[in-house]
Amino acid sequence: MKVELLKKIPQVDALMKRIPPEYYENLENEYIKRAVRAELDELRGRILNGENPELSEEGVLSAVCARLARLTVDSLVPVINATGIIVHTNLGRAILSEELLDHTREVLTNYSTLEFDLETGKRGSRYVHAEKRLAEITGAEAALVVNNNAAAVMLILNTMAAGKEVVVSRGELVEIGGSFRVPDVMAASGCILKEVGTTNKTHVFDYEKAIGEQTGLLMKTHTSNYKIVGFTESVDIGTLAEIGKARGIPVYEDLGSGTIYPLGNLELPSVPESVAKGLDLISFSGDKVFGSVQCGIIIGKKAWIDRLKVNPLLRAFRMDKYTLALLEATLKLYLKREHVLESAPTLHMIAMDQETVKQAVERFVDRYRERLNDCGFVWTAMDLTAEIGGGSTPGEGIPSFGLELSTLKSPARFQRRLRQFEKPIIATLSKDCVYLDFRTVFERDFQRLMEGLEFADA
Ligand SMILES: *Cc1c(COP(=O)(O)O)cnc(C)c1O
Repeated sequence: MKVELLKKIPQVDALMKRIPPEYYENLENEYIKRAVRAELDELRGRILNGENPELSEEGVLSAVCARLARLTVDSLVPVINATGIIVHTNLGRAILSEELLDHTREVLTNYSTLEFDLETGKRGSRYVHAEKRLAEITGAEAALVVNNNAAAVMLILNTMAAGKEVVVSRGELVEIGGSFRVPDVMAASGCILKEVGTTNKTHVFDYEKAIGEQTGLLMKTHTSNYKIVGFTESVDIGTLAEIGKARGIPVYEDLGSGTIYPLGNLELPSVPESVAKGLDLISFSGDKVFGSVQCGIIIGKKAWIDRLKVNPLLRAFRMDKYTLALLEATLKLYLKREHVLESAPTLHMIAMDQETVKQAVERFVDRYRERLNDCGFVWTAMDLTAEIGGGSTPGEGIPSFGLELSTLKSPARFQRRLRQFEKPIIATLSKDCVYLDFRTVFERDFQRLMEGLEFADA
């Protein structure tokens, strides 16, 4: 029986001849042959296992093509974000504008002054590029940029307090998605965590008591993704800076998601305000509410920045030229508030008032009313609550507007079908309704959004 089945497995050459030509155009023959062999090996294994798999040439061919498609179809693709979460970590956080890319293209397709000083004709430093603008817009003495904020935290801890104790409030021992947990980062940086206070309350005297011979640093972490409410107390960063100054111990704040300019009337962690408190160092992410590329921005006292620059870890955390070019371009926009609000889509989406979102929904509805009515769902334009995301204002939403799709035959299927659309649409499912928040939907995607709704409805 098994022998009979094994004999029925199609031949490699026969399959190779029938692979559609577009695969040969885009793939080395070797890769195609490997996919054929892998499929045939799998079939042999299943037969030996007592199974009775599909063995027709057609069937095997389509399985091989599915393997090849996994190689040729892109996996990192654009999507329509209809969740209303602006800095959505899973959907790529901050968005860059076309304008920014145009500005940067020239630098990226040419040799550049990445580490070259035009004045002296000698080797320069990649770290000078963003520094002046960052210092200017934040009010800090000096700046340094690394791969991401997690790298910034590690570099700072390792430079300021390796082998020493770092005093942190128990209310701030955060875990930020994935694997970033303050106690683990502390250990990996070679520092000893000294927890003070309790989960809900930390007082000045807790810090005072904890400071001793072994203390290397006082650290404050922005509690990005949670909020302790009720009977709480924490020591504000200004007071912490004073304690540090009085005791001769440096103070560092991991701000997480910092902004430069006020956005609407939202309470967001302000970088310049923290700088004004006189901290030694501050770090935050470049791709959260700052609205630029993935990077970790470090600002503060020049003496400390200089020490970071000679830490060998910096080489492992260094930024690449593409990121640096895009950051420089964003920083240029930042020199003028209205430019950055206009041209950095993430900031634009955060600052937009509800009325503006509502008008966008009305334009969408006016344009596609008939097509919407022809769909199997009932649609209602309504108030929704969007989120800044990226751990900037945990627990607080911002008033937004969008569509509720109700009486769906299978809401879960509808939501899944939206994801299967050629430009996948990510929507929220709640209480049997699908919600589309228009705060995060670009107007240029309106037509595709409508097509996607029809696709999911079919
Ligand atoms: C997001 C965040 C980080 C990690 O920053 P990445 O840029 O994702 O590496 C660290 N600390 C805080 C407080 C954060 O909010």
